[in-house]
Amino acid sequence: MKLCRFQPRVISADQVGANAHPEVFQGVISGETVREISGDIFARWNVTNRSWPLTDVKLLPPVMPSKIVCLGRNYVEHAAEFNNPTPKEPLIFLKPPSSLLAPDDPIVLPPGVQRVDFEGELAVIISKECSQLGDGEDVRPYIAGYTCLNDVSARDYQALDKQWTRAKSFDTFCPLGPVMETEYDLGSGTVETLLNGVRKQYSAFSAMVFPVNVIIPWVSRVMTLLPGDVIATGTPAGVGPMQPGDTVEVVLAGIGTLSNPVIARTA
Ligand code: ZN
Repeated sequence: MKLCRFQPRVISADQVGANAHPEVFQGVISGETVREISGDIFARWNVTNRSWPLTDVKLLPPVMPSKIVCLGRNYVEHAAEFNNPTPKEPLIFLKPPSSLLAPDDPIVLPPGVQRVDFEGELAVIISKECSQLGDGEDVRPYIAGYTCLNDVSARDYQALDKQWTRAKSFDTFCPLGPVMETEYDLGSGTVETLLNGVRKQYSAFSAMVFPVNVIIPWVSRVMTLLPGDVIATGTPAGVGPMQPGDTVEVVLAGIGTLSNPVIARTA
C-alpha cells in the first residue's frame, strides 16, 4: 500500500482568501487516483469519500519526522571510494527536518560550495515509539514503511568540518518520497540513482554493512525513535556531483522514483 501526503494543485473556492496555503492531506494511492484518508497513519485511519486524480495533486514528503537519522559508510564499496574504512559499528549523523524537500522540487546548491553530491538511499519510516531494543529483537512492528531519500551532501564542508552537520543540513538537502510503501520485501530490494537519466549508483540492499534489523535496535539505544522518524540506511558506491540544470532520480523498484531538479541559489 502506498501512502502519501499531498496538496491539491487546484485550490477549491472555499480555501481561496485568508489562507493562501492549500491544505495538506494524507492519502492512499490506488492506480492513478489519490483517496484522502483521515486519522493517524501510524495507528488508525479511514478512507474518506474524497479523491483526486494523481495528476491533480502535488506530492509532499510522505511523513514529517522529528528527526532524520542517517548511516554513514554503510556499503563497503562506498566507504572505499573515499578511502575510508568500513565502520566497526554503525556510524550515524542527523539531518534536520528543515532540510526536507518534496518530490520534483529543486535542490538548491548553496553559493560558494564547489561540490554537492547526490546519495541515493533507502529510508525506513518508524511506526511507533521505539527505545532500548535488544539485538535480535523483531523490528518489523516498528517499521511503518519505506521510501526513497537523497542524502544531498556538500563535500567541501564535509572535508573541512569535524562534524558533518553543515555539509548535510542545508535547506533542500533531504528530498524524500514520493510515497511510503507499507508492504515491501527488503530481501530482493535495490537502490538506483540516475543523473540526467544515466545510472550512477546501483546496489542490492543485501550489500549493506549493517542491515535494517541491526540498525534500528542500535539507534534505539542511542535515541528514542518516534512515529514518522526516518532512518536513511546509507548510500552505495557511485556518488557524484550535481550541477545546476541536472535532474537526479532515486529509484526503489516497487516503491517509486524520487526526482528533483537542481538549481543554484541566486543572490
Ligand atoms: Zn548518506
